Amino acid sequence: MTVRSSSRIVLWVFAAAAGCRTGVPGAPETPASPAVTPPAVSAPTSALPPPASALPPPASALPPPAAAPGAPAAVPAPGTGVAPSDDRLGAVLWVQTSAEYRALALATFARARLELDRALADRTSTAALEQQGEFGGLPPAVVADLDEAMLDNSAYEADQIRLGGRYEAVSWNAWMDRARATAVPGALEFARYAAGRGVTLFYVTNRAAAFEERTRANLAALGFPLVDDRDTVLTPGERPDWGSDKAPRRAEVARSFRILLLVGDDLGDFVSGARAQPEERVALAERYAERWQTSWILLPNPYYGSWERALLDNERDLSAEEILRRKLGRLRGSE
Ligand SMILES: [Mg+2]
Repeated sequence: MTVRSSSRIVLWVFAAAAGCRTGVPGAPETPASPAVTPPAVSAPTSALPPPASALPPPASALPPPAAAPGAPAAVPAPGTGVAPSDDRLGAVLWVQTSAEYRALALATFARARLELDRALADRTSTAALEQQGEFGGLPPAVVADLDEAMLDNSAYEADQIRLGGRYEAVSWNAWMDRARATAVPGALEFARYAAGRGVTLFYVTNRAAAFEERTRANLAALGFPLVDDRDTVLTPGERPDWGSDKAPRRAEVARSFRILLLVGDDLGDFVSGARAQPEERVALAERYAERWQTSWILLPNPYYGSWERALLDNERDLSAEEILRRKLGRLRGSE
């Protein structure tokens, strides 16, 4: 084993031990739910396939999971591998297959290009609440989140659904290590457009610092702009005051750059306070109504985020049944 590969494994184990999607011990802003046991299948007897023992091996077996060494074995629901009540199925399929998601993402990045040009021309403009003092003469930058803003990890989520599992740190870390995320539609073109206008792209992500190099490799393979003379992939834990709240990292960029735009899929990519109750989160978003129309570029993420954690009172280690129960309790019916 080479030194490089052995050190990678050490980093991987370290990050896995951190125990959250972002790899940050404590309180990530944009994680999905922790690992849970899949719910039992409950369907009418007539709708059930024959017992698995009576079936020959399926002609189109599911692809092998992206499980890491030591990952707990996921147990598919009998017959299908997917719990019929899986709360993520429609959301992930919408991202992966719908014309509507693709159109929305492309339109969002088209608007981002227009807003970039507007902000470049207006030296009084900044997207960051953390930008203070005289900033008109600073070089321009964009601060972008990665997961589900620039990078599409829906394949990871699809794997988990097929396996009857949920997000957990071991498989998430293995996914990051593979560096196989794709680009959100329009994201790469936007990033290159910005770089072509002399704008530095900063990627402010809650991926664990241990996976920064693999993340950088993933970005480079896709063609995202990266620079050699400074670190533009800013992860939590790199500095003592850098936690899952991204405000200190935005402030750090704002010390040397004028931040033209913020790009993200989660309220926490724009402002602190995303982990509040749903009603408070909506009020927080409404407070900045003008920015959503200009310098805050929001991509849709219907399958995880601080919006979902707020529904679950930011609790971890809930069972799939409990997650479903709490979500059902949040529905607003006609009566
Ligand atoms: Mg994100």
